[in-house]
Amino acid sequence: MNKARVVIIRCDTYADDQVLTAVQKGLDMLGGISVFAKPGERIVMKPNILIGTEPDKGVTTHPAVFRAVGKLLKDVGVSVSYGDSPCFGKSEPNLRKSGIKEVGDELGFIVADFDSGRSVSHKDALLMKKFVVANGVLDSDGLVSLPKLKTHGLVRFTGAVKNQFGCVPGLLKSQYHVKLPDPYDFATMLVDLNTLIKPRLYIMDGIVAMEGNGPRSGKLKRLNVLLLSSDPIALDATACRIACIEPEIVPTSRPGEKAGLGTYHTENIELMGEALESFVDTSFEINRTPPISGSGGRFMVFLKNRITQRPVIDKAKCTCCGTCITMCSVQPKAVDWHRGDMSRPPRYDYNLCIRCYCCQETCPEGAIYLSSPLLARIYSRI
Ligand code: SF4
Ligand code: SF4
Repeated sequence: MNKARVVIIRCDTYADDQVLTAVQKGLDMLGGISVFAKPGERIVMKPNILIGTEPDKGVTTHPAVFRAVGKLLKDVGVSVSYGDSPCFGKSEPNLRKSGIKEVGDELGFIVADFDSGRSVSHKDALLMKKFVVANGVLDSDGLVSLPKLKTHGLVRFTGAVKNQFGCVPGLLKSQYHVKLPDPYDFATMLVDLNTLIKPRLYIMDGIVAMEGNGPRSGKLKRLNVLLLSSDPIALDATACRIACIEPEIVPTSRPGEKAGLGTYHTENIELMGEALESFVDTSFEINRTPPISGSGGRFMVFLKNRITQRPVIDKAKCTCCGTCITMCSVQPKAVDWHRGDMSRPPRYDYNLCIRCYCCQETCPEGAIYLSSPLLARIYSRI
């Protein structure tokens, strides 16, 4: 069996020329960009935009990484488009805010349609046999994924596999959370989405990563690394090893291997480039306990309230904008105004909350953090 190849490249700056050199070096180890894209093909690049945020906030894939990969694709004679569907709102303003649009305009790239999509069957899926996928992805010949290395409340870590969730247009994403409240089902759906879309190449921006309260409101963590692979499971496993979390804990790993998407086992991964050990960061703040399985029933609600992290609003930071209420996946809303009073921070009903963490992910003030109940803290030490 051929081993999955993951290239580790040091890059300690977002200076355009240095990122370009680093990406070029990494791609050369994988055989060059022409292995992944041929002249005349339509390739769509998928950075992680989440919600458009200035590049120095570390929420989005840095424009310098986007520029470097885009330039190499363009040089090969590829017709390049790009896009991402944010948690809410149209994609273009978010692309603009993240600095990606400016680079796309400069390079003459087309903004792909990630705001609407079409229904596609996936008969070989492990779980989800049908998806709505953005037109911009379906109308391309192939996708190059540009994930950002960040923490994530639901699946612990957001990287190469999770990045393709942005290929589901707009608020449709929250329906997947409602349908699949169990984190392991949700992760299996993410794997299915990847085996459907089949990105050709993944280049992860880990130069400045995010730890703690990610994927939007965490702390910046300089890791000075770019990771490249055609295997998203192996790439994520490598990023996990850098962040000192066991890949098995990330719920996309096992279904990813089962679906043939890739491998997370060290013995099946060939690391190329620089030594993994020189990037390992034992101080990286990430939840190292496996997500709790189970989605329904009174007992599960009882258990969930005692052992899973709950979103909590920091009243001092909250501006009462109401975004968390809009973004709450469930009906009736698990976070809402108290008796309709919009002048005070919203309140949670944890019995209704499915712990999808969409509210925490989208709060523009970073006012929502995840708190562990006592039993969860004990569980994490077992
Ligand atoms: S999204 Fe954040 S700032 Fe806005 S109401 Fe909710 S907690 Fe407050
Ligand atoms: S309150 Fe937050 S975590 Fe709970 S269901 Fe709503 S969006 Fe998800």
